[in-house]
Amino acid sequence: MPELPDVQVLKAYVDATALHQRIRGVGIDADGLLEDVSRRTLGRHLRGHRLEATRRHGKHLFVSIGGDDWLRLHFGMTGALAYFKQRPAQLDHVRLRLDFANGYHLAYRNTRGFGAIGLVDDVDAFVAAAHLGPDPLADDFDLGAFRQVLAERRGPIKRVLMDQSVLAGVGNVYADEILFRAGLRPTARTERLRGGTVKRLYHALGTILRRAISARGDVDRMPRSFLLPRRRPGGECPRCGRTLRITTVSGRTTYWCPRHQRRTS
Ligand SMILES: [Zn+2]
Repeated sequence: MPELPDVQVLKAYVDATALHQRIRGVGIDADGLLEDVSRRTLGRHLRGHRLEATRRHGKHLFVSIGGDDWLRLHFGMTGALAYFKQRPAQLDHVRLRLDFANGYHLAYRNTRGFGAIGLVDDVDAFVAAAHLGPDPLADDFDLGAFRQVLAERRGPIKRVLMDQSVLAGVGNVYADEILFRAGLRPTARTERLRGGTVKRLYHALGTILRRAISARGDVDRMPRSFLLPRRRPGGECPRCGRTLRITTVSGRTTYWCPRHQRRTS
């Protein structure tokens, strides 16, 4: 499921492939995914324009299409992008297809119905209206800013990390990874975290997200110290080799090591 590192990889993918080509044609098959825009309006804003630049906030990717307009893509559970000249045989569930004047195409695929395609004229205004918290990789997101977003939050730290209105971009998998690195129990109460623990957590957050981006979000390229490749029943802790515990925290499957995540405050 695309979380911040995966969307950052998709952003880099668009930057490396589809920018600055004139859009000659548009195919939209996304009725359930279109948010606050009709097929007709979206098509009109894309056709004849170019993808000029990309921005990411949390799990949202914004692609500038000239003037003040931005195409907004959210990848839900299964969203992905493909840039190609010859349509690959296995390419299915294409919800949006841009046909470029150079003969290439960019397809937004989404197998399951979750995700969104929208059109926004002000990215910052969209982020505010959607009540998204700060992006943890933003330049100004320092330890002070992290302390600020955690202040007045209560309840299990894992739930707080996944709450997009607190912090935009962390989901179930990376929340576990960050807590493992910080040695913090997923159910630790946010309001009881000490200053030193918040600092550890802040560093774990940045380190895990950056390393996951370096690994291109690919499970097979993740550092050996990561839980991610071991998220399966019977999976073993990369540090002590004991079987990871699987529990449910705020309704989400949670992998953790009781030996290395003893910290509760
Ligand atoms: Zn362990």
